[in-house]
Amino acid sequence: MTPNTDLNHTLFERARQVIPGGVNSPVRAFKAVGGTPRFIKRAQGAYFWDANGQRYIDYIGSWGPMILGHGHPAVLDAVQKAAIDGFSFGAPTEREIELAEEILSLMPSMDMVRLVSSGTEACMSALRLARGATGRSKIIKFEGCYHGHADALLVKAGSGLATFGHPTSAGVPPEVVQHTLVLEYNNIQQLEEAFALHGADLACLMIEPIAGNMNFVRASVPFMQRCRELCSQYGALLVFDEVMSGFRVALGSAQSLYAQAIPGFKPDLTVLGKVIGGGMPLAAFGGPRAIMELMAPLGPVYQAGTLSGNPVATACGLATLREIRKPGFFDALSRKTQSLVDGLKAAAAEAGVPFSADCQGGMFGFFLMPELPQNYATVMKTDNARFNTLFHGLLDRGVYIAPALYEAGFVSAAHTEADIAETVSVASDVFKLLRPA
Ligand SMILES: *Cc1c(COP(=O)(O)O)cnc(C)c1O
Repeated sequence: MTPNTDLNHTLFERARQVIPGGVNSPVRAFKAVGGTPRFIKRAQGAYFWDANGQRYIDYIGSWGPMILGHGHPAVLDAVQKAAIDGFSFGAPTEREIELAEEILSLMPSMDMVRLVSSGTEACMSALRLARGATGRSKIIKFEGCYHGHADALLVKAGSGLATFGHPTSAGVPPEVVQHTLVLEYNNIQQLEEAFALHGADLACLMIEPIAGNMNFVRASVPFMQRCRELCSQYGALLVFDEVMSGFRVALGSAQSLYAQAIPGFKPDLTVLGKVIGGGMPLAAFGGPRAIMELMAPLGPVYQAGTLSGNPVATACGLATLREIRKPGFFDALSRKTQSLVDGLKAAAAEAGVPFSADCQGGMFGFFLMPELPQNYATVMKTDNARFNTLFHGLLDRGVYIAPALYEAGFVSAAHTEADIAETVSVASDVFKLLRPA
C-alpha cells in the first residue's frame, strides 16, 4: 500500500507531531521491528481492525488484560451499567469490596488487598510497603523482569527499554537505584551470594515467577524454592509480581503452580494488574493482614490515588474475574494455547527452522532457537533480523503478535480452534521465509 492510501501511516505522521514518537507507551511504536504501527479502530472477540480496515487475529490482548477477548457481553453490560451510575466518586463503593473479596477468594496467600490504577503504581507501592515493613532499603530484582517504571525498579528492565539499548532510563539519579541489586534469573549461585553479602539489609526480592517481559521464561522450581528459603531465613519479603501472570496462567495464578511443586509455598506480597482490570486501568497489591495493615490510613506507609478503585474499572474487573472462575474456563483456554504452541512447533520443524516454545494457561512464548532460554542474556541472543521477518510476515498476513522478541503472547477465550488453525497455516508460510539458506 502506498503511503498516501495507508491510513495507519497518515495517523502515525499526525501522531508524531503531538505525541513523542507518536505513541503513549514506547513498544507500540514498532521501533524494534521497523515499519508503521497499526492504529486500531475497533475490536471484537479474538480480532481487531486497523485504520485501513484490515483484520488481525490478536495475540497481544492489550498486553494481557483481554483474557475473555474483546467485547465480552457480560463485561460490556457491567461496564455500561456502572458508567450510568457514575464514573468516579472519590468515596468508597460496595463494588471495591466485592472485587477485593473476589481476588482474595482466588488467592489464599493474601488476607487484604489495596486497589490502584496501574501495575507500575502497584509495584512501586508494594516496594514501599516491603521497605516500610522491614525497615530495610535494599532490594533484589532480576535481569529481564519488568516491574513497571518506578525509578528504583527501572534497572536493566527487559521490556521497552531494551529496544533502545539502554540498560536504564535517563532521569533516574544513581542514588535512587543504589539499593537495587540486579541478578540473573534462575541463577541459584548468584542468589546465594547476594543473600550472603546483603541478606540482613534486604527488604524484599521482587520477581516475575513466569517472566513475560523477556518473552516467556519460567523460574525453575529449585530456584523459586531457594528464593523462598533465603527470604524467610534473612527476613526479606518475597514479592511476586503477577501483574502479567495473575489470573492468566491459572485461576490461582503462578503462585498456585509453585505451591503444587513446593509444599506450603506462598509469596509474602503479590502484585496484580492487567487481567484484574479486564482492559480498564486497575491493579492491586496485597498480602497478610499484619503487613497490609501498615498501609495508610492504619499505618505509617503512605499511598493514595484519586481514581483508585474506580467504579467503572472495578465493574469491568469483577465481571472478568466472574467469567474466568467458571468451571472449565482455564482447561479450555490452556488446551487452545497448547494447540497453538504445538502447531507452531510442528510448522517450524517442517520448515527446518530452529524453534522452541512454551505456554501456561493463556500465555505463551516462542523463540527462534532450539532450546528454551533460562535467562535474559540467552533470550537476547535471538537474531533480531529473523524475528522481524517473522513478525512482519505474520502481520502482513493478519496475525498480530507483540512487536518485540522479548514479549509474551496471549490467547483469549474468544480464540477458536479455527483461529488457531489459521494462525498455524499463516506461520507455516512465514517459516519458509526463515529457512536457513
Ligand atoms: C505490565 C507489567 C507491569 C506494569 O504494569 P502497567 O499497568 O503497565 O504499569 C508490571 N509488572 C509486570 C510483570 C508487567 O507485566
